[in-house]
Amino acid sequence: MTVKVALAGSTGSIGRQTLEVVAASHGRYEITALAASSNEAVLREQLAEHRPDVVAVVDASVRKRLAADFPTVKFTDDVADVVDGADVVVNAVVGFAGLPVTLETLRQGKRLALANKESLIAAGPIVQPLRSTKGAMIVPVDSEHCALHQCLRSSDDAKREVASLQLTASGGPFRGKTRDDLSRVNVAEALAHPTWSMGPKITVDSSTLMNKGLEVIEAHELFGIGYDHIQVVVHPQSIIHSMVTFTDGATIAQLSMPDMRLPIAYAIAWPERFDVSFGAVDWTNLRRLDFEAPDRTTFRCLDLAYAAGRTGGSAPAWLSAANEVAVDAFLAGRISWLQIAEVNDATLQQHDGATLSNVDDVLAADARARHLAHGIVQNFAHAAGTVGA
Ligand code: NDP
Ligand code: MG
Repeated sequence: MTVKVALAGSTGSIGRQTLEVVAASHGRYEITALAASSNEAVLREQLAEHRPDVVAVVDASVRKRLAADFPTVKFTDDVADVVDGADVVVNAVVGFAGLPVTLETLRQGKRLALANKESLIAAGPIVQPLRSTKGAMIVPVDSEHCALHQCLRSSDDAKREVASLQLTASGGPFRGKTRDDLSRVNVAEALAHPTWSMGPKITVDSSTLMNKGLEVIEAHELFGIGYDHIQVVVHPQSIIHSMVTFTDGATIAQLSMPDMRLPIAYAIAWPERFDVSFGAVDWTNLRRLDFEAPDRTTFRCLDLAYAAGRTGGSAPAWLSAANEVAVDAFLAGRISWLQIAEVNDATLQQHDGATLSNVDDVLAADARARHLAHGIVQNFAHAAGTVGA
């Protein structure tokens, strides 16, 4: 039987690799719906090749042009419309904009192959109850969480048997650098990731270790493990994707070359294993696996995320929203790399302690944090004379 896959964020790094995985399945999986923001050229190619039933496009003029050229396809402006008719939904939208897809997939009791960590981080208290909808399930695409998901399959009682989770981090392009070294880094340097090729937002997040911080919160939300039992270890080769240590001292790890097609395939094939291999290790060539502790003084975002996670309520939503504003401002040349952590910190310091009871609360928390973060960015940009940049 063919498995119907809906893909939100199809034009991005994870989106395009998802289409490669589907193509490699020789008909076992088919694309029923696509969604993207505005990348017309790539969407046009994807529409011609995959012939989806439904396509959501945020940009109205792009939507209109594509609708004229593909009259049999149903076009919509609502990304959550991709969920209808799918067996599994891949959420590969970047940022908070992925929230409607996460919520609608779980509401409809479907499997969510989740790359869009920001929706889970910002809306944890709202997403958690939806996971008990009949048929609903989150299978993580994020490589570390996909690894943890696999390691946890070795336990029948994870709540009792897990001692700690070890999230691995490559360390990003600035591993080993001091704050002084990093006072002048430019966008191109932050985008030069040593082991993974990814979209710009997550690549910058990897350079600040905010990505790892967000992943700590993501791991807490996905697996229900307390923050004192989630550790981060730098592993520059990105071959061990994460590990679980059990109460008897045993550690189980998942190893493969850095290739996101493996976790994507895992998430769409679950509970089966995909029958095409991506990134299997050549053991005769693997020489070493290195580990070190993260530098929490230079990479302040990691501890900001632990703090926000421990505070709970809307604090993770605030941090994630502030970080989106800060990363956009850095990519636009308005603030420096070191100021990303400062925007995040200064925004979190104004956190109003609000809890989250419904989706409107999440939207309000996101808007409030963005508003404050924009103000902080504006002040930095004024001081640096980069206001119009
Ligand atoms: P990209 O920037 O490469 O792609 C983002 C995708 O989201 C594009 O298809 C973009 O459309 C779409 N998009 C942007 N805004 C909207 C919106 N408002 N509504 C609908 N679609 C939108 O990002 P990545 O693929 O790198 O990352 C996607 C997610 O996966 C992120 O949450 C990231 O953290 C996570 N992730 C990514 C990994 C990777 O290896 N890339 C690894 C682990 C997790 P358009 O092109 O038209 O702008
Ligand atoms: Mg990851």
